[in-house]
Amino acid sequence: MQNNNTLTSPTLTDISADSFVQAYNLFVQQGDFISLTRQFEQGLAQTGRENNLNFNVKGAKVSLLDSGVLLVEPQSSATSDKPSKSIVISSGIHGNETAPIEIVQQIVGDIIAQKITLKHRTLFIMGNPVAMNIAKRFQTENLNRLFCGKHQDIAACFEKDRAEKLERYVSAFFNAGTENGEVTNYHYDLHTAIRNSKYEKFAIYPFQNGKPWDKEQLSFMASCGVNTILFGHGPSGTFSYYSSANFSAHAFTIELGKVRPFGENDMANFSAMTEQLTALVTDRELSLKTFANADFNLFTALGDITKVSENFKLYIDDSASNFTDYPVDTLLSTDTGQEYRTTQPGESIVFPNANVGNGQRAVLMVVPTTLS
Ligand SMILES: [Zn+2]
Repeated sequence: MQNNNTLTSPTLTDISADSFVQAYNLFVQQGDFISLTRQFEQGLAQTGRENNLNFNVKGAKVSLLDSGVLLVEPQSSATSDKPSKSIVISSGIHGNETAPIEIVQQIVGDIIAQKITLKHRTLFIMGNPVAMNIAKRFQTENLNRLFCGKHQDIAACFEKDRAEKLERYVSAFFNAGTENGEVTNYHYDLHTAIRNSKYEKFAIYPFQNGKPWDKEQLSFMASCGVNTILFGHGPSGTFSYYSSANFSAHAFTIELGKVRPFGENDMANFSAMTEQLTALVTDRELSLKTFANADFNLFTALGDITKVSENFKLYIDDSASNFTDYPVDTLLSTDTGQEYRTTQPGESIVFPNANVGNGQRAVLMVVPTTLS
């Protein structure tokens, strides 16, 4: 018997519990990954391949590593068919960003229904089940600031624990991929934005520390309907940066439009993304247009407007869209003894937020750029 205390305190799910066994069997039959993930939001007590939660579908083995973490591996004996790609497709790192979760559901559902045959090792992730269940961006901490070990610096909470585990699953996934020989790593972390954007879909290309930006990857983004790219300007704690910096993965944080509740997304708006990710995991030919600057809105970071004191004032409307640009010499903020005026043609704002602590970024300023 459980007392009230243990009923209300968060617990990991014992995979031998009747309720789990039933839900898991239903998942194997019907492929509803969202439902399974939401039912066991705290995660599983027995995780990784050792939990033996796996089953076969046409041409692939499916393993549930934890709540919201599903490994699918092609099973082919032909050596010519060796998987040459390890692909992470993640969603729900912010729990209320439902469209990406529904994209992952669609691909996972198609694999389990045997409508498509997976050809490359793929790790599908629904990142924050607790936040999904409360329809919030996060419960205690913004999960997408906690990667690259930054989870070690904060107090105990669901997101701290989840970031540490997601790092472990992704790391084991990429490391196991290299056992097959030459493998290219990919990580597409799908989001939707809180605010409007002048360009509805955009991607953040993690800081490459001097490595060139990959034009074929930009062409792939364009084929997914994402032709606005913001080049990262420094290391960060995002999930995509984690995979890029540690596993040389081609990685992006992809913003697909505005946040909406489950069931209210117009999935047709995301069909290019879903189709191209499906093409990637099933090894269907990706017909990509050769990179041309004219097909893109490329931005590079100019710097931050940082809130220094309580006197900080931001002259950007709360509802201002990302990538709104201002004429040169526009006053954007004032603070104790200083002000910020635009200095460059096309200078634009991203992620404005006046409600930050002293010393934190209130706005990221960006300018248009091109690749040579
Ligand atoms: Zn997000």
